[in-house]
Amino acid sequence: MFYKMNPKFKSYIRRFNSDKKNGYVYDMHVHTKYSRCSSMELEVLISLYKKLGFTGVAITDHGTIQGALKAKEYVEKNNIDFEIIIGAELSTQYGHILAYDIDPTLVNEVPKYHHRDIDDVVDFFKSKGCVVGIAHPYTFRVRKLNKIRDDNFIKKLDFVETFNRRNMIDYCNKLALKKAIKCNMAMTSGGDVHFYPEIGYAYTFSPIKDILKAIKEKKTFPNGFMKRDLISFARSGFTKRIPEVKRLNKEVKPEKKLEIKKSKMIKELKKNLNTEEKIKAEN
Ligand SMILES: [Zn+2]
Ligand SMILES: [Zn+2]
Repeated sequence: MFYKMNPKFKSYIRRFNSDKKNGYVYDMHVHTKYSRCSSMELEVLISLYKKLGFTGVAITDHGTIQGALKAKEYVEKNNIDFEIIIGAELSTQYGHILAYDIDPTLVNEVPKYHHRDIDDVVDFFKSKGCVVGIAHPYTFRVRKLNKIRDDNFIKKLDFVETFNRRNMIDYCNKLALKKAIKCNMAMTSGGDVHFYPEIGYAYTFSPIKDILKAIKEKKTFPNGFMKRDLISFARSGFTKRIPEVKRLNKEVKPEKKLEIKKSKMIKELKKNLNTEEKIKAEN
């Protein structure tokens, strides 16, 4: 009911549907259970994104590409038409850096660049041919952000994440957008998804199938809808301590666990799809 009445969400869905038809849609900021703060299973998140019509996702776990590699292996092995971009989110003294298109051979190197000096991180991933940018430059969650708001620093990068669905208020995204426009940067949007119900509220549109090329050519377009649920935000970091999650992790066999989560999440997804259909019918 809430969604149906929210005109902003309505226009977001409308735009998402038309962008899906006219090009390619990616979530460029997704965590998996390979990040300590997320519990998402690769198979489930892939099937949920695919059902919503996403072309692919960038898996950007904190300081590791293990989940991204496993996800890529999974889609290739099962012939799933869904693109996995191997990425990572690296913490520095001045905020978070996103790197895309990381070579699988760097699997042991990547963790060494988590919690490192910002210039070391950028130089390393740039030297390896990655597409490098800043995540949520105006978030409240990270304290020292002065360097990643510096124009000269930004201009050395490939993109600015101008929409991050986990920002507490949309104003943070507006500031990031303003900055990206000022510095003439490519723009991306990411759900910064840690939990299944957060899936689908942010996407980056690319007019060509190769979104990394589109970023380099500054042809991407960010879009997203701020779903203001503080609860899912607050759960970040605590999920693994929730008794039910603990129990699931301990008692249930992996395959069974997957099934339980899947059926729960498909229900959630269907709710979204129904809303989408409703909106279509209304127009
Ligand atoms: Zn971050
Ligand atoms: Zn993140």
